[in-house]
Amino acid sequence: MRVARTVKELREILDCESRRIGFVPTMGALHIGHRSLIEAARRENEVVVVSIYVNPTQFLAGEDLSKYPRREEADFKICELSGVDVLFYPESMYEADEVSVCASAVRGYILEGASRPGHFDGMLTVVLKLLNAVRPSKVYFGKKDAQQLALITQMVRNFNMNIEIVPMETVREKDGLALSSRNIYLDTIQRTEALKLSSSLKEASKMVMQGNRNSSELQKAMLAILEPLEVEYVAIVNRAFESISEVVIGDTIVLVATRVGVTRLIDNVWM
Ligand code: AMP
Repeated sequence: MRVARTVKELREILDCESRRIGFVPTMGALHIGHRSLIEAARRENEVVVVSIYVNPTQFLAGEDLSKYPRREEADFKICELSGVDVLFYPESMYEADEVSVCASAVRGYILEGASRPGHFDGMLTVVLKLLNAVRPSKVYFGKKDAQQLALITQMVRNFNMNIEIVPMETVREKDGLALSSRNIYLDTIQRTEALKLSSSLKEASKMVMQGNRNSSELQKAMLAILEPLEVEYVAIVNRAFESISEVVIGDTIVLVATRVGVTRLIDNVWM
């Protein structure tokens, strides 16, 4: 595995590469969810590039930027063992003065965009920079960050970028908890509380399977399970992120965001 610390070093490695590149952008503290993306990239491409960069511009003031887990040594090992060809591990992706991408579509302002104003601008900006630096054929993103995935798909389409976006299923612990680098913030009691997110989504799925498609009833049932957590939103939207009053199988995402202690967790299920 080769390691590049700057875009210049990365381009020196990749400029002589004519094979198809699969790319997995991450913020590190790699877990099995990340590994599922890397393994898919390995299966489907000749060259696999992973980036690890905790992007400061997508954190709001007061968020967990300074304490976000950094696991350089373990992450290197995981990448090496997963057959990554090139690890891009930049110190910074920014110059002193920058233009940035604005997540100006409606779906940039709702849900995560409303809870974390500016987050998606920073996220899209760094993803655009990373995609231009790596120039992959395929790039892999988790459905766990559903709104992020939708905005990146839109950016790639809007900016006529010739890149295939591959959405990947959410990997969970056996008990249902969606894997997240932020789970390490949870103590034992909070971890049990955090299971309420996946339980509430499971209940919504069960109700839909039993024939109840009514969004308000699903939301009510989910909120009852989520109690006493501080819920930021429980939303039922179509794939375009428009609110819907009835679930349509094949075109629905049910999303939840809560705090467990000070830790903010999100999860969703695609129906
Ligand atoms: P992050 O390091 O949190 O920025 O995540 C990097 C990529 O991994 C994003 O595309 C995430 O959506 C994806 N990801 C994070 N958690 C999971 C998970 N539990 N299952 C599948 N993909 C995930």
